[in-house]
Amino acid sequence: MATILVTGGAGYIGSHTVRALLDAGDSVVVVDDLSRGHREAVDPRAEFVQADAGDRERLAALLTGRPFDAVIHFAGLIAVGESMADPARYHHGNVVKSAALFDVLRAHGVTRVVFSSSAAVYGEPETVPIPEDHPLRPTSVYGETKLWVERMLAHYARAYGFRYVALRYFNAAGAHPDGTLGEAHDPETHLIPLAIGAALGTRPPLRIFGTDYPTPDGTAIRDYIHVCDLADAHLLAVRHLLAGAPGGVYNVGTGRGHSVREVLAAAELVTGRPVPAVEAPRRPGDPARLVAAPDRIRRELGWEPRYGLEDILRHAWRWHSRQGGGRSGSAGGWPGG
Ligand code: UDP
Repeated sequence: MATILVTGGAGYIGSHTVRALLDAGDSVVVVDDLSRGHREAVDPRAEFVQADAGDRERLAALLTGRPFDAVIHFAGLIAVGESMADPARYHHGNVVKSAALFDVLRAHGVTRVVFSSSAAVYGEPETVPIPEDHPLRPTSVYGETKLWVERMLAHYARAYGFRYVALRYFNAAGAHPDGTLGEAHDPETHLIPLAIGAALGTRPPLRIFGTDYPTPDGTAIRDYIHVCDLADAHLLAVRHLLAGAPGGVYNVGTGRGHSVREVLAAAELVTGRPVPAVEAPRRPGDPARLVAAPDRIRRELGWEPRYGLEDILRHAWRWHSRQGGGRSGSAGGWPGG
């Protein structure tokens, strides 16, 4: 079994991946500055270090004399709108800090990296489903920063012997089926938690951003991927690198798209409640359709998603009702969004 350093392991996808690594028998050290993550989300079986992933001194101290087999680098900023309003924050938080982390890794001979990339590297798609060799023309600062880190890894692979897997996530969604881990962004901008909040009455009616898209029901289509399936992709990526594979870039999506209205219908089915919704203008920068071509990850990593849209909604609903249902002191959620 391997010893894995996980940056951003207190975040949404990171915390689910940490749980999956531990369940598979790996040793895990989480580095997270808790600027966006939640201490309570870190599995108690992991060692936790509260530090910035770009803090050279803290990282160097952590890596000295400790043989990490690989690093999974989740730490970073994820909000498209914020990246447009405050690009410096994204350049610093996503690019500069990654460069610092990779310097420390290099100095300590840790050269296997799994990186959280994004479908945002593609920009407005020319073809859907989107294969990995689709042109890379991000339309947001966020997407640009993810692409730059991918390129940095490619350069470091050529020059310094790094081997890496960059996973281009489509729409991560859902929660751990046991209801003890889930999505808790603050502020929350994602469709599924907002729809569930609207159904519960803990959030305002859902605004449907755009009803005039060239899609069958006029609303935008996305490829929703269960967070535990996404966690599995990280495990497979680590195993792939440890087995000596060269790595590369992989889409992580199901290959199936669902419209906003389909998501709302699934939310109503699962919750047994109406989801109050109002029609609103398109959100700037939102393409009509983003759906992965996931053939490469299936073929090369043997990855298969286990869950569909209804599972995603069911697990998200379980998590959110535990959060808001006055049982936050239980094994369920944690306060603070
Ligand atoms: N969306 C929406 N209302 C909301 C939030 C999102 O209609 O309050 C739509 C959004 O326009 C997109 C889809 O839901 O088509 C998924 O958006 P989300 O923010 O969850 O993820 P993104 O695709 O932006 O990464």
